[in-house]
Amino acid sequence: MNINDWILANEISIRLGFFIGIFGIMAVWEVFKPRRPLKLSRQLRWTSNISLVVLNTLILRLLFPAAAVGLALLAQERQWGVLNNVFVPDLIAVVITVVVMDLVIYLQHVMFHAVPLFWRLHRVHHADIDYDVTTGARFHPLEIILSMLIKFATILVLGPPVVAVIIFEVLLNATSMFNHSNVRLPLALDRILRLIIVTPDMHRVHHSIEVDEANSNFGFNLPWWDRLFATYRDQPHAGHENMEIGIRGFNDPDQVDKLSGMLLLPFIGSISEYAINRRTWRNSDGD
Ligand SMILES: [Zn+2]
Ligand SMILES: [Zn+2]
Repeated sequence: MNINDWILANEISIRLGFFIGIFGIMAVWEVFKPRRPLKLSRQLRWTSNISLVVLNTLILRLLFPAAAVGLALLAQERQWGVLNNVFVPDLIAVVITVVVMDLVIYLQHVMFHAVPLFWRLHRVHHADIDYDVTTGARFHPLEIILSMLIKFATILVLGPPVVAVIIFEVLLNATSMFNHSNVRLPLALDRILRLIIVTPDMHRVHHSIEVDEANSNFGFNLPWWDRLFATYRDQPHAGHENMEIGIRGFNDPDQVDKLSGMLLLPFIGSISEYAINRRTWRNSDGD
């Protein structure tokens, strides 16, 4: 059995193994070195957030049983995509894949904030009143499906090695759980780490109820895109202990931290003032 067949046959166990392992480490770390006290009970949030993960996993399996790795293998067999048509050493192809797919995730994340319709879906991720390891995995099923389609398009254009796709998926899942964790890192270590990876303090800024802060630090994995595209913000104005997490006006735990409320969240209310074409300020000329 070659490596690609092995990855395809074991994709679920590889990803589930890393997910459970890293989830466990971060959950224990949060108990011993928390960054902030939690507002809501773990029981309510964890039940809802983890149920959403299970639901999303089932939906993805039903819609796309071969998943991203299956498409990468098909692209390789058919010689689709850039990397299947130019000679690049394997290791370099893996690095290119991780960097390019991460850039796409960054751009997609900016788009989910900028386009009012997409923001409705993405606000499920932001509406969590607390910020911990389970926040990193809570996304509305429609956002998960859209993300998967964007990933498929990227794979078709890029033609990445199958092994690079599974590495990227495991890495993104792991860093997302790490940087959403409610853990306290020594500040000096955070400063060094955030040169190469998005840290919890860096991404927490993105979950602030303050709009200027929430429109910063879009990176999930590599921290460089925010610096390159000038969306980087070092720290929250109010400090990590005092900053408020969530979306202004969405304070009811039954709505934002209960599964039924979370699933309905994209469909309620008017589009907030948050998105790019809904800001209320005007020029003094009335322009
Ligand atoms: Zn966001
Ligand atoms: Zn986040």
